[in-house]
Amino acid sequence: MPRPIEALIHVQALAHNLARARACAPDAMVWAVVKANAYGHGITNAYEGLRAADGFALLDLDEAQQLRALGWRGPILLLEGAFETRDLELCSRLKLWHAVHCEQQIDWLAMHKTHEPHRVFLKLNSGMNRLGFSPTAFRAAWTRLNALPQVDEISLMTHFSDADALRFGVDGIQHQLDVFEAVCADLPGERSLSNSAATLRHSARVHSDWVRAGIMSYGGVPDYPEHGPEHWGLLPAMTLRSKIIGVQQLQAGDTVGYGSSFTASQPMRIGTVACGYADGYPRHVPSGSPVLVNGQRTTTVGRVSMDMLAVDLSALPQAGFGSEVTLWGQGPKGQVLPIDEVAKAAGTIGYELMCALAKRVPVTVQ
Ligand code: PLP
Repeated sequence: MPRPIEALIHVQALAHNLARARACAPDAMVWAVVKANAYGHGITNAYEGLRAADGFALLDLDEAQQLRALGWRGPILLLEGAFETRDLELCSRLKLWHAVHCEQQIDWLAMHKTHEPHRVFLKLNSGMNRLGFSPTAFRAAWTRLNALPQVDEISLMTHFSDADALRFGVDGIQHQLDVFEAVCADLPGERSLSNSAATLRHSARVHSDWVRAGIMSYGGVPDYPEHGPEHWGLLPAMTLRSKIIGVQQLQAGDTVGYGSSFTASQPMRIGTVACGYADGYPRHVPSGSPVLVNGQRTTTVGRVSMDMLAVDLSALPQAGFGSEVTLWGQGPKGQVLPIDEVAKAAGTIGYELMCALAKRVPVTVQ
């Protein structure tokens, strides 16, 4: 018997979430963002569910190669562009569109002997201060690119830092949107500004030509806990589930797990689940974090160890050895435990939990 833990990837949920992105931004084209192994879901699995997208956006050339090998002929955008000169060779060969965010990338293009002209997305640093040309350098970069025979089309992009929230009491995108519009006002070319949060929370002006739907494609909520997945009509695309492999009866005063961090205040029954931090479950969840047993809500008890964690079964008399445990995602009868809720308990975000799913967890595509 293999250890009873698995991740389920719900292909129909991916397709559903993509349709939600389209419904939110009906006049825009949609990049499905599949960087980081499709946020932990696997490139092949994500392709199966998201192939109705207008394009795929990612970082790694080998993931772009995987998509081409799967048969994807449409647009692929490298969100951070080339990391070194020779990446441009593959960009030409695989017909990849690529971001250009710094002078070095323009230098590489200028030196590149290419037969296929490049389509680039020139990136403006409108305030996030991560990648991109500053507002004062942007137009000179555009002029330089425009003069290169290696470049046949220049699109314009930026990335919001606070699309999921207010910033200084005003809408979190306002300042960056103003900067983008001022700098790019009279430049030709398609535009791409919105991540999931901006796609969900804003209108056509912000959506522009291409939205970049990352976390929402996987049923994660960028503005949790302000909103839950049901508010945005999203479905979890990843379920992590396991089983109870041991049951303990505790008396008042008994403790649970490493560090004895939990002490029973009354008699209680707990189950030991075959899932721990080596599977990607966050070690930092405190006792009382949410979990489903047989689709019913209960809570974790004590510290998460490498391969196991404990859950409270006191109010679930039917539950016992072999009962199904949903760590996040879809329960056995369609109940949902949002990954964002577990992430919040652990002091992190759903993105991190998805990406941290461990290699040792077998994946089943549904
Ligand atoms: N665009 C860029 C440039 C990104 O770096 C990311 C992810 O961090 C996305 C889009 C997708 O963001 P989200 O997953 O919040 O939709």
